[in-house]
Amino acid sequence: MNLFQIDHIGIAVPSIEAALPFYQSTLGLSVIHDEVIQDQQVRAVFIKVGESTVEPDSPIAIFLQKKGPGMHHIAYAVADIEQKLAEAKSAGFRLIDEKPRPGGHGKIIAFLHPKDTFGVLTELCQRID
Ligand code: ZN
Repeated sequence: MNLFQIDHIGIAVPSIEAALPFYQSTLGLSVIHDEVIQDQQVRAVFIKVGESTVEPDSPIAIFLQKKGPGMHHIAYAVADIEQKLAEAKSAGFRLIDEKPRPGGHGKIIAFLHPKDTFGVLTELCQRID
């Protein structure tokens, strides 16, 4: 698959306001981006941790109802998301997104089905800015 780095880890939280003091005050991390992704009806905040980011997402209603707050997905940076999706599909992975969609913070994203990725919702993302 040739993924070159973990781009970010998504954490589902019921309220970003309630979660931010943990990341900012307790862990001492900085918010680098805050955006409502209209397409997904999600507010995503990106928090820098070295070369990676943590992305608390809210609301992810169905996930939160079923599982409560917690790790939601892991996102790998790829150079060519269309090609990676085609490779994953031909290797038999179920795609949640057949086509990349806007992911916020200057990226396009697509998810692979967690049933085929050992229980971890897996996002591919490509920087477009
Ligand atoms: Zn993400």
